[in-house]
Amino acid sequence: MKKVMLTGVRPSGNLTLGNYLGAIKNFVDRQDKCKSYIFIADLHAITSPKDPKLLKESVENCIAMYLACGVDPKKTIIFKQSDVLEHGTMGFIMTFQTKMGELSRMTQFKHKSQGLGKEGVDTGLFVYPTLMVGDILLYNTNIVPVGKDQQQHVELTRDLAERFNKRYGETFVMPDVYIAPIGNKILNLQNPLEKMNKSDSGDNRGTIFLMEDINVARKKIMSAVTDNLNCVRFDEENQPGISNLISILAKITGEEIASIERRFSGKGYGEFKREVADRVCELLSEIQTRYKGLSSEMLDAITTDGAKRARRVARQTLAKTCKALGLD
Ligand code: AMP
Repeated sequence: MKKVMLTGVRPSGNLTLGNYLGAIKNFVDRQDKCKSYIFIADLHAITSPKDPKLLKESVENCIAMYLACGVDPKKTIIFKQSDVLEHGTMGFIMTFQTKMGELSRMTQFKHKSQGLGKEGVDTGLFVYPTLMVGDILLYNTNIVPVGKDQQQHVELTRDLAERFNKRYGETFVMPDVYIAPIGNKILNLQNPLEKMNKSDSGDNRGTIFLMEDINVARKKIMSAVTDNLNCVRFDEENQPGISNLISILAKITGEEIASIERRFSGKGYGEFKREVADRVCELLSEIQTRYKGLSSEMLDAITTDGAKRARRVARQTLAKTCKALGLD
């Protein structure tokens, strides 16, 4: 029996190199070994208010990006979360299994709600982890490939699945998080103490977008903040900028970190950055070429079929859950 693998990305803003290397690439590399699901987390996007027109565009853009990044609809079920209504109900049920303390301890919540005060924080930001719990449990998921920032949410999923199974009888499969050893937290090129996000405070100079103009992307890598040690060495504590670039190169090419260090021993940062820029630009160029070959009709057909197949499984799991609760 193939293992079930599932991941999702919020369609808010343009996808970054961090999204690709931290989550999508790990998924693509394993999609034929597993029963694979990937979804556009559009319900997660509305946890804070969004312009409906922009959201619609972002959703379409996100589906196209999955395909351009190598997600294969013959091997993977691709769907929009809002097309499978069971996500809402399952998220609702899982919210009621959760303590406020558990949600208050989520690092993402603490980070994003900082300084907003109780009146300023959207409830969506507080409860979205339980929606994610529902997303994972609906498909009897075994493996969830995500970046390091989402690890805690998968751990919450395990806790809630265990709690539910103990209270109401064996219902959910216990999922495992998959965090790749390299590239699980791609850092901002201008501030290598922060994660690379879809938007940053410095005109996005520290973020590489997958649809970015190749020349702009090259400039961003060439002007990435490093240090004055002039040594290409993987040392996240003392050389976070250089270590981040080594991770990017290693993850794209599959070359071992030690081999990269050896190849660039005694060489300057300029030469090293040029190689990183070359490999990143090649990657972006491949993704962008594939993106241009896609049409709205193709995307529609793929997600309509995907939703139909996803719904079949989601409906069964939700029915089983409701039965366990006495709601059948
Ligand atoms: P999000 O864009 O927050 O919906 O994240 C979608 C997926 O990309 C999640 O699995 C994240 O963990 C992953 N991700 C986002 N940013 C990064 C990053 N800078 N480095 C590694 N993974 C990331």
